[in-house]
Formats: sequence, structure tokens, C-alpha cells
Amino acid sequence: MKNYSSKKLMEIEHKYGAHNYHPLEVVISEAEGIWVKDHEGKRYIDMLSAYSAVNQGHRHPAIIKALKDQADLLTLTSRAFFNDKWPVFAKKLAGLTGKEMVLPMNTGAEAVETAIKTMRKWGYRVKGVEKDKAEIIVFDENFHGRTTTIVSFSTDPLAKDDYGPYTPGFIVVPYNDIKAVKKAVNKNTVGILVEPIQGEAGVIVPDDGYLNELGQIAKENNILLAADEIQTGFCRTGKLFAYMYENTVPDIIIMGKALGGGVFPVSAVAADENILGVFEPGSHGSTFGGNPLGCAVAGAAIDVLLNENLSEKALELGSYFMEQLKNLNSDKIELVRGKGLLIGVVLKKSAGKARTYTTRLKEKGLLCKETHDWIIRFAPPLIIKKEEIDFAMGKIAEVLG
Ligand SMILES: *Cc1c(COP(=O)(O)O)cnc(C)c1O
Repeated sequence: MKNYSSKKLMEIEHKYGAHNYHPLEVVISEAEGIWVKDHEGKRYIDMLSAYSAVNQGHRHPAIIKALKDQADLLTLTSRAFFNDKWPVFAKKLAGLTGKEMVLPMNTGAEAVETAIKTMRKWGYRVKGVEKDKAEIIVFDENFHGRTTTIVSFSTDPLAKDDYGPYTPGFIVVPYNDIKAVKKAVNKNTVGILVEPIQGEAGVIVPDDGYLNELGQIAKENNILLAADEIQTGFCRTGKLFAYMYENTVPDIIIMGKALGGGVFPVSAVAADENILGVFEPGSHGSTFGGNPLGCAVAGAAIDVLLNENLSEKALELGSYFMEQLKNLNSDKIELVRGKGLLIGVVLKKSAGKARTYTTRLKEKGLLCKETHDWIIRFAPPLIIKKEEIDFAMGKIAEVLG
């Protein structure tokens, strides 16, 4: 198993793997809970949680048991036949989201694509928008995935450039600016696609009431509000879903990442029947969507979130962590922002590049990732304990204090 050193493995990856990522120089070969171990046996705290896909902690025993038990019974049928896990999981996820129906996919981007298709089809069939005229309002610095349609409305040149021709039908407006949304609305608007907190943009938290106002605009103009909760959902921000900080309930809830418990890619879209009912057999689908293995894993992943009160934990420890970071009074830190255990530390221009600090933190045993050149995101698994945050703070103080 350890035929290759970490250095050698990184060289092999560099030679044979496409360079669409720039990983920190650590090769992980084992993990448990909040801890990962590199190829040479050094331990680190995972402060990224695979972009919030590992909220339940690495290899949670209940999720791994569900995976193994299901692997011994049935893994894939396709939706050409019924299987005995998808119906049970659909009911559970509908109950959890308070929606009447669920459509299962695999990756987050596929769930976003599903939401886009839903809004468009609803626009033509229910709202009565003229053929091929549907518009969806999206936001500056959004991140919704990597498909050609989704990058068509990205504002990040790195994610978008040279992938044209782009899919039309998206109106980009500034985030956290209600007036801009009102101005963009017209008779062809079918949806608003929003992240309740913009994670990839650098943990950008909009003003209180923002989602309520979007909900109000949607209601008044017969538009669907779709919340991309792929990163903010499943207790990360201190609530089951980040939209729950406000009174508005989005018409469409888009889920992924932690829905698969860090084990298996499972994504889904939830909405009521008057919305998701626009699909008929053959109009959308996925070979692996709703597969029994994924459904068993995701069902267990949800149970862990609820049984272990992970939203309360994220809320409590998130405020504690953020307070500690603020108390550093570091001359390198411009500001600390976030909700629950989704925290962004914005560095001062004078501090230099975030990558320098994530590299130093790695050497001290904390794995974090920079977003842009000047923001460090802290998003540990939600099962982290106060003592472990204290331990991590000691290391952070050495690097950023
Ligand atoms: C990660 C993410 C996606 C894309 O999910 P993939 O599984 O990588 O396709 C979409 N939206 C948000 C907000 C995300 O954080």
C-alpha cells in the first residue's frame, strides 16, 4: 500500500492527472471523525470537510454501516425498475424539507441543473411564458457548479472563460441588492436562484431580511425562489438549512454535499407537487439517481445530523470559534464572518496571499483551503468538540496571531 512516498504520489498525479486543481501538498490516506492522516502517518484536523460534504465527520460508523449493509444487498437498479430504498428515502427527505416531492440526482451541479429545468418547464407550462423566453435571476460571484449551462452565468473568469458559446436566459445582478432584483424582474422571469450564504465567493453573508425580500418579490411576481443549499444545508450554518434564519420558505430547495455523508455522491431537489409535478416520465433523469446504495447512505447521513443535534452544535461552536478568531486581534486579519461553522477569515491586503497561511497551517496540522487569494475558510466537521477548536486555535494563533 505504501509503495510510493507522498512526494512520488504528487509527482505521479501531476504527470497523469489533468491540472484542474491545485491541492495543498498533503497526501491523505486515512481519516476518522475530524482527523485525517497523511501517507507518512502525520495527523491533521480537517478544517474544510470537503467543502462541507463531510459535516457528519469522516467515516461516521452509522453511515459506513448503512453503506456496507446495503452493498451486501443491492446497489443499482436504474429507475427502469423500482427499488426498495428510493421510496423510503424520498419520503424521509420530503418530510425533512417539508416539501411534497423530491427528485434525486448525484452531484450538486446536477441538482442545480434539475432546478433550472424545473423553473423553466414550470415557467412555460404553469406561468405561461412564451416559448424559449424564460429568464432566471442569478447573482454576482455565484457558485452553482461546473456544467456548461451553470458556468454560462458564472462571473468568475477562471470558471467561465473559453467554455462558450454560453447558455442564454440568465440575468446576473449584484448579491445582497434587492433593488437590482426588482429592476431585473419582467414577465419572462421564472426563477431566482440564490445561495443563502455565498460559500465559494468567500463566505459572504447577506443582510438580515434579504431572503425574505427575495421571497416577497417572488410571490408578488409569480416567480419561483430556488435556494442552493448544497454547501449551506444540513446544519452547516447552525440551522438544518440556512434559509431557516428567515421566514421565507424557498419554493425549491437544492441539496447535495453532506446529503451523502461524505461517503457517496447524493443530491436532490425538493419542491411541492405543483412545481416538481412538471416532469413526466422520460423528461429528466439519471442512471444513478435514486440508487439504493446512495439512498441508504443518505438516509443514515440525515439520521446522524438529527440524532446528534448537529445544527445546535454548529451554532454553539461556530459562535465560539468565530469569537476566538476575532479575539486574536491579528494585524493580518481584516474581518471574520460567517454563520455556524461556515467561517471566512478575510486577510488584510498587507498580509499577503492566503495560500502562504494555509500552507503554514498545514505544517502545524490544520487543513484549510483559501478561497480567492485573501480569504481562508474554516469549516470543520460539525462533530468537532470545543477542546478541539481550542487546540486548533492554538495553531491558528501561531500562524495568524
Ligand atoms: C459544491 C457546490 C455546488 C456543486 O456541487 P458538485 O457536487 O461539486 O457538483 C453547487 N452549489 C454550491 C453552493 C456548492 O457549494
